[in-house]
Amino acid sequence: MQTDLKIHLSGILNENIERVSTVHGGDISTAYKIETVTNAYFLKTNQVSKALNMFEIEANGLQLIANTNTIKTPKVLAYNRFDNHAFLLMEFIESKSPSAKDFEHLGQQLAQLHQCDSENFGLDTDNFIGSLPQSNTQHSNWVDFYIHERLHPQFKLAHRKSLLASSEIPSVEKMGNSLSQLFKNIKPSLLHGDLWSGNYLISEDDTPYLIDPAVYFGHNEVDIAMSKLFGGFGESFYQVYAEIIPFSNETSARMEIYQLYYLLVHLNLFGNSYRNSVKTILKKFF
Ligand code: ADP
Repeated sequence: MQTDLKIHLSGILNENIERVSTVHGGDISTAYKIETVTNAYFLKTNQVSKALNMFEIEANGLQLIANTNTIKTPKVLAYNRFDNHAFLLMEFIESKSPSAKDFEHLGQQLAQLHQCDSENFGLDTDNFIGSLPQSNTQHSNWVDFYIHERLHPQFKLAHRKSLLASSEIPSVEKMGNSLSQLFKNIKPSLLHGDLWSGNYLISEDDTPYLIDPAVYFGHNEVDIAMSKLFGGFGESFYQVYAEIIPFSNETSARMEIYQLYYLLVHLNLFGNSYRNSVKTILKKFF
């Protein structure tokens, strides 16, 4: 890390930085663990043009979740620019592999987060899903929200990138007809929005934390669908969650439709290896 950025951060923290080490695992920014004599901090840096807005939105998303007092997020200390770097500085969470008990706590606290409601689906600000823009324009109807703010923008992008042909993309009318059958009595819940296994941490003192959110008010099963897409969480997570917010007969079909959004995002970010999974779901439902 550049010496002048280190000096700048020392000033913000009001502590001398003793050690800086790279943290691997992210795919957008460069991440570091910063240690002082008494504390540890997590820092992400990226180009200003790419990430200043993204870091502000990430900080706001973490704060929105923290404000519910249901599940913790790392405390954000600062986000700003320094020379040509954008940075986001937060508390470092020393984490461990989750036990069955930890998954119970995560399931319970996520269900509590999902009990935070709103009038409409969406949010008052847009955000990002990975590095792609995510529109949160509010709708009172979940079918409209899910088609116009989730599936349709990703279909359009996939078409622009020549990853899907027009003939492979279902019309809004067709999607509307299929989804209206499956999306009934759905209420807005506060979601993490990108809940794969890289986006939670269990601290060494057994506390679950959510990181890297793409928050909005949507159907609670969206987070559960994402949690199952790439490997899944421990069984006790799902058991405890379902005791608080039960699943229904339509849940497993809806989960595939919700996974379609994340698969389209992966198709648009990482290319053709996600095409078959996308096509399988399209064929089944539209
Ligand atoms: P990116 O936005 O570039 O994808 P991530 O937010 O996923 O970066 O973070 C990269 C890595 O850092 C992940 O492996 C994650 O587990 C870890 N990480 C994220 N936030 C913290 C934190 N506050 N404390 C400790 N480790 C963290």
